[in-house]
Amino acid sequence: MVTTHVKRAFKYRFYPTDAQAAELSRTFGCVRKVYNMALAARTEARTRGERVNYNQTSALLTLWKKTEELAYLSEVSSVPLQQALRHLQVAFTNFFGKRAKYPRFKSRKKSRRSAEYTTSAFRYRDGKLTLAKMSEPLDIAWSRHLPEGAAPSTVTVSQDAAGRWFVSMLCEDPTVVALPATDTAVGIDVGLTHLLTLSSGEKITNPRHERKDRARLALAQRRLARKAKGDGANRAKARRKAAKVHARITDRRRDHLHKLTTRLVRENQTLVIEDLTVRNMVKNRSLARAISDAAWSEFRSMLEYKAAWYGREVIAVDRWFPSSKLCSNCGTIASTMPLHVREWTCDCGTTHDRDVNAAKNLLAAGLAVTVCGAGVRPQRSSPGGQSATKQKTPRREP
Ligand SMILES: [Zn+2]
Repeated sequence: MVTTHVKRAFKYRFYPTDAQAAELSRTFGCVRKVYNMALAARTEARTRGERVNYNQTSALLTLWKKTEELAYLSEVSSVPLQQALRHLQVAFTNFFGKRAKYPRFKSRKKSRRSAEYTTSAFRYRDGKLTLAKMSEPLDIAWSRHLPEGAAPSTVTVSQDAAGRWFVSMLCEDPTVVALPATDTAVGIDVGLTHLLTLSSGEKITNPRHERKDRARLALAQRRLARKAKGDGANRAKARRKAAKVHARITDRRRDHLHKLTTRLVRENQTLVIEDLTVRNMVKNRSLARAISDAAWSEFRSMLEYKAAWYGREVIAVDRWFPSSKLCSNCGTIASTMPLHVREWTCDCGTTHDRDVNAAKNLLAAGLAVTVCGAGVRPQRSSPGGQSATKQKTPRREP
C-alpha cells in the first residue's frame, strides 16, 4: 500500500470582529481590483499579439502600488493580491488548454468574495489562526479537528452571498491512505430527473427537500426581480433572502455529494464520467439546469481529488457518440430518441432505461480508452489511433 501525503481542505465558519470584517472586505476589494486590472492588461496585450505571464503581472502590481490612485493596494496584505495573479495564471492555463472559457472579470456583486493567504501571511499556533494585518486570531467555530500535528499551508477566507464568513485551511492529512485495488468499474451519467444514474442500474436522486427549496428559490428570485431598483433597503433584504435559500440548497447538496463521492470511490477502481466542459460553455437556461450543472462540476472535482487520495482512476470521456440512442447491448443506433422517451426496446430485444443505457455506454467508452491508452484521460491527451475521442463533441442531447 502506498502512503501518499494528501492535502485536504478543512472549512469552518468564523465570526470576525468589526475590524477584521472591515480588513477582509477591503482585502476582497483589492483582490478583485488586481485580478481585473491584470486581466485587462493581459487581454490588451493579446490584441497586440503578445503574451503577458504571471511574472509580468507581478511587476505591474508593484508599479500600480506606486501610483497615487492605487496606493491603497499597499494597505492590505500583499499575499492575497499575489495569489489573485496566480489564480489568473491558472485561468489562462486552463483556457489555453481548452478546459475553460476565456477568463472573465470579477464583478462586485456576483463574484465570490475571497482572499487566499500562504504561510508568510498567517500564523497558526496552538489552534489559533491569525491573518496578516490583524492583531487578534479569528474566532473559528471548530466543527471538527484538524488532523493531529497538521500545519495549514494555505488559508482561504471567504464570505458567501448570505453574509456568512468561512475559512478554509489546506493541510496534509496523514490519515488518508490508498485503498486496496479492486477491479470494479462504473459509468456515471448525469441528469435532471435523477442526480446521477450508474451503469449498475442504480439511480441516485437529489437530496431530500431540494425540490421544495428550488421552488422557494424561484419565488425569492421572482420577488427580488420585482423590487424596484430605487428601493434599496427592500431590495437588499430580498437579495439576502434569495441568497440564504441558495446557500441552503448548496450546503445540502454538498453534504450529499460528499457521501456519494466517498462511496463511489471506495467501491470502484475506475470511474467513468462525461466531460461536460463543452456543454458548460453554453449559456445557462433554467434554474434547475444551472443548479444541476453547478452540482456536476462539484461532483467531478470531489470525485477527482478523492480518487487521487485513494488510488482510484477517474476517466472523463467526450460525448462524441450518441449515447442515448446507442444500444449498449448490440451497438445498434436507434434512429430517433425524443427526450420524453425514458425507456425503449432495441431491435435486438433488449429493453433499456434511457439513463442506465447511457451510463453503460459511458462505461464502455471509458474502458476502451483505458485499454488503448493506459488510462490517459482522453480530453487532455489522446494516444494514437483514438481519434474518435479527440473529435470535438457535438453538443450532447440532454
Ligand atoms: Zn440492441
